[in-house]
Amino acid sequence: MNNIGSVTAYRLRACLNGGYDQVRGTAVDYKNHQRDVNVCIGERDAQMLIYRFSKRKLNDPEFCFHYKTEQDELVGLFWADETSRCNFREFGDVLAFDATYRTNRYNMVSVPFTGVDHHNKCVTFGGGLLKHETIDSYEWLLKAFLTAHPNQPQLVLTDQDPTMKEAITNVLTESTHRLCMWHVMKKLPKKVCGELLKNTDLRKRIHKLVWDVLLTKEKFESRWQYLISELNLEENTWLADKFKIRDRWVSGYISHLPICCLMKTTSRTESSNAFFRVFTDPDHTLVQFMLNFESAMDKQRHEHHVVTSDDVAEVYEIQDANMKTKVVSRHQVVLNRDGNIVCSCNHFGRHGWLCRHIFCVFNNKRIEEIPETYIKRRWRRDILPTHLLDKRHRYGMQNDETSKMCSQVISDVDVIVRYKSSNDN
Ligand SMILES: [Zn+2]
Repeated sequence: MNNIGSVTAYRLRACLNGGYDQVRGTAVDYKNHQRDVNVCIGERDAQMLIYRFSKRKLNDPEFCFHYKTEQDELVGLFWADETSRCNFREFGDVLAFDATYRTNRYNMVSVPFTGVDHHNKCVTFGGGLLKHETIDSYEWLLKAFLTAHPNQPQLVLTDQDPTMKEAITNVLTESTHRLCMWHVMKKLPKKVCGELLKNTDLRKRIHKLVWDVLLTKEKFESRWQYLISELNLEENTWLADKFKIRDRWVSGYISHLPICCLMKTTSRTESSNAFFRVFTDPDHTLVQFMLNFESAMDKQRHEHHVVTSDDVAEVYEIQDANMKTKVVSRHQVVLNRDGNIVCSCNHFGRHGWLCRHIFCVFNNKRIEEIPETYIKRRWRRDILPTHLLDKRHRYGMQNDETSKMCSQVISDVDVIVRYKSSNDN
């Protein structure tokens, strides 16, 4: 175990110290080394991973993991580190997860839990691996998830899997469950005749219908039915089925839910993120899987760090002309004596930041600062503590007093610099 441990530790260290980009660059050495490591790892793969996690837990009490075995075989695993937990506390209002990816040689599915942060970027709240896709398995995983993140999300997005649906209903009792729009739309090309998609504007029109949050239910229904009859799609059972469950996925039906537009972004981010593609190698051992996962997390978190981002009644009628389509829409902004301001477009309710109509009014009233109440905590750039970005801290690689002090000093300096720069501006 010691030998294996050091080899693995070496790889882990090379991986983490070198950073994700450098790890990918050393292909030949990496492969040769990997082959040697594979020979060593063999049957003890799962055991090594649990050992590794237990060790990490000793160094980092915030690290949370649970596993489940059946006849000495690993059948379930959940883990979340301090950064994931902090991310969930701040951005856990919308949670997306699915289990599309068979990830390793044990044929386990990977279940990443993701959301969207204050830069509208994908963040990870934790990861799971499951051998069986049963209601019991998913319930076990979600309960493990709740031990790391005790507050349930407001919205949960998944694909249309009946097993998952049942588990979510049983465990995430306070959350609203909806389908990930991207997952639904992804199936369109398979379910509708190719000729039709190629020769008509069906695809464009359907997308327009389902993604428009401002479209009322009545309008959605009449336009959908018009489209179906115009293209003779009455016999298409998939479309009929999707129409039946429209309140579970179509944007216009969820616009009353708080921050429903995050749901849209979450769908997109989760689907398009190359992040998950890293884990799809069926030959990988669990240890390799975890190394890839951690590298990808590094990448995700590093990218976030370099992003910088910029929150009596008087009634105003605002005309908003779309430059491209020349369509003019009208919105009403109401500014109350107490400073409370609302716009009929409800952009703030849906996204969590103010719309341009309200800014027109601010301009007019010479209000130069956005009132505190309209700067939602989840969109602030400084809500995550700096020390979370320190890899050594995160993986518990160096836990001695000197390293801790160094981290603390760096973190303090960062706080001062941020404070100073925000006051200078
Ligand atoms: Zn507005």
